[in-house]
Amino acid sequence: MYEHDTIAAIATPPGQGGIAIIRISGARSETVIKTLFLPETPWREQHTHHFYLGRILDKPHGTPIDQGAIIFMRAPKSYTCENTVEVHLHGGNFLTRCVLEAVLCQGVRLAQPGEFTKRAFLNGRLDLAQAEAVLDLIQATNETGLHLAWEHLTGRLSQACDEIRDKLLSLTAHLEALIDFPEEDIPEHSQEEMQNEFSIIRSDLEALEATFSQGKVYRDGVRTAIVGKPNVGKSSLLNLLTGTERAIVTKVPGTTRDIIEETVLVNDIPLVVWDTAGIRHTTDEVEQIGIERALAGIEQAELILAVFDAAQPFDISDALICEKLRGKKCIPLINKSDLFQELDPADVISRIDKGPLIYISAKYGTGMKDLEERIQNVILGDGGDGGVVLDKKRRAIDKNIVLNYPFITKMRHKSALTKTTQSLKNASSSLKDGLPLDLVAVDLHTSLDHIGEITGHVSSEDILDRVFQDFCIGK
Ligand code: GDP
Repeated sequence: MYEHDTIAAIATPPGQGGIAIIRISGARSETVIKTLFLPETPWREQHTHHFYLGRILDKPHGTPIDQGAIIFMRAPKSYTCENTVEVHLHGGNFLTRCVLEAVLCQGVRLAQPGEFTKRAFLNGRLDLAQAEAVLDLIQATNETGLHLAWEHLTGRLSQACDEIRDKLLSLTAHLEALIDFPEEDIPEHSQEEMQNEFSIIRSDLEALEATFSQGKVYRDGVRTAIVGKPNVGKSSLLNLLTGTERAIVTKVPGTTRDIIEETVLVNDIPLVVWDTAGIRHTTDEVEQIGIERALAGIEQAELILAVFDAAQPFDISDALICEKLRGKKCIPLINKSDLFQELDPADVISRIDKGPLIYISAKYGTGMKDLEERIQNVILGDGGDGGVVLDKKRRAIDKNIVLNYPFITKMRHKSALTKTTQSLKNASSSLKDGLPLDLVAVDLHTSLDHIGEITGHVSSEDILDRVFQDFCIGK
């Protein structure tokens, strides 16, 4: 068991609510709460994992300030595997802070972000991929993201990594058995068998790594910029996508001067959508700043919805925008399709060759189904333009396929897999080139270390700091 001091934190979000929960974990948790709580059931009759009503005191052995409940969860059957107490009280900001302070004045330390989960990891209750999944579950914005987080929490990703790790371990054992053989006695088929093993493990690694682009989509969303010249209906489109009047819609060109950001779900794919200032030549200084931000937005976006006005002839501003979109993943939209068409679609197609144009009317909400389908295809990859292309087995046009494989969602996982593959490649070529088997073994051990980073078989303070820094205090 990992030895710790006792920590406490408010586990519920700040603000007023029905209840607030203070969590205390560590050896002193029971002693501390006994000075702050007058139970209706005598202490000696209380059991672990049962709720008990009572009065909460303002300071050790002080006066009651609230009626609440406590629950003991004795080690190792608690989230942190340590003695834990939760205090459930009325959800007032001031009240909760008072009780927390009364806990902290008794040699208990305020928990750092994610410290409860970090203890759960250090005490072996969760591995590192599962600990990360706790945060993903809390932050999930869509059904698939939630599902992936849940799968990770129940150990799906860890299992996939452990299977690869087991294969690597038997390969290493095989190799190490040969190291003691005199060179000339190594059976020929052994080399071949090992090379076969190398390629099986490599394809497992590559298949898992290929899931990153989609896993990331469901976890982080796709940065999407709506761009176009002023007055083409960008803000109207954002409002339609969000279902709210988030952006100001007016007849006056140049009204959106800063980037407005909203997260929307399109067929359960989270898009972080930016409505940008209309791009055109202008002498207005403030508008120019907005345009520069819009251009920077194009650079950072992973998907662009390029809006053109059906009721206006194609002009120099449209041409400028098409120029900026070169090489970007983009969907050209012709808005105001309810009006008489002045725009020649050939002018757009000749500059942005990204499949058929989508006609919409942001004012009347028409064409949105086509737009949603195109967004899904472009992001999840239908083998067409710019989609995330996975190997054939893993191509996920259908969301159900996403749900049937372990997916990686984090750059940390991806880079560990890349490093594992690289060390494996080194080992394989050393073996092929007839280098001493000791050297091959060194590369294999390195690849074992890298795959172990995902689940935390191998971890450093640096890795742990990075994993837990994004958690909130109290989790
Ligand atoms: P932005 O400057 O590109 O953000 O454009 P807005 O969304 O502010 O729209 C500019 C004007 O075009 C407003 O008067 C909207 O009501 C109008 N508009 C937007 N979309 C449509 C559409 O699909 N059809 C018609 N007829 N008018 C639209």
